[in-house]
Amino acid sequence: MKTTAIVLAAGQGKRMGSKVAKQYLLLKGRPVLYYTLKAFEDSLIDSVILVTKEGEEEYCRKEMVEAYGFQKVTAIVPGGRERYHSVFFGLKAISQYIPECEYVFIHDGARPFVTNEMIVRAYEEVKRSKACVVGMPVKDTIKIADEDGYAKTTPKRSRVWAVQTPQVFSFSFIMEAYEQLMKNEGSLREKGIAITDDAMVVETFTEKKVKLVEGSYQNIKITTPEDLKIAEAFL
Ligand code: C5P
Repeated sequence: MKTTAIVLAAGQGKRMGSKVAKQYLLLKGRPVLYYTLKAFEDSLIDSVILVTKEGEEEYCRKEMVEAYGFQKVTAIVPGGRERYHSVFFGLKAISQYIPECEYVFIHDGARPFVTNEMIVRAYEEVKRSKACVVGMPVKDTIKIADEDGYAKTTPKRSRVWAVQTPQVFSFSFIMEAYEQLMKNEGSLREKGIAITDDAMVVETFTEKKVKLVEGSYQNIKITTPEDLKIAEAFL
């Protein structure tokens, strides 16, 4: 059991504007989360920790894991207020249930188009560099805005990537970085720093560089209603 995926499905999905959280919305009759779990089930990943909203563990066990017969889901655990809390709870579950884990693939449940090729590319890289994230170079020109909403600077487009998941790390290394984050959570909040992905935890609390690995332009996060239409077109 060397490789574990943490699949995050504990978000509120406020930007979707629907009562149903985005991971349970249907795509061709099946929940978004089904496609995500299926991709890991059919990949080199040995086991999956599913992180759901507190109180939804039983629903997920019956309606997601048992209903579709997923074999790799080792535990279903409750998430927390922010994405990084949910990740931390997932990491703690790995310590508890899969202590032999060497590499962890942290993945947004709302990204159903993760593929085995992407997982293989990230796996080859993490064995070399301990820390990598999948993403793609941006197609649009990006502007950094000032506080009043005026364009301030334009980073060189060839160097700007939109980062996706999975974000993949040596387990002991990312666990230590997250323990640092949890100790320093209060001071980050005071400085107004929001942790929005796992690479940022590594950048903030370690000296290690995170390698960028090619994902795909299809590997979208289903966040707003138009993303659902795009996802149906991909299927
Ligand atoms: O909110 P965001 O778009 O960053 O969410 C990315 C992923 O993280 C989603 O799959 C969402 O369900 C998950 N998440 C979570 N716990 C939170 C917030 C988000 O598991 N508190």
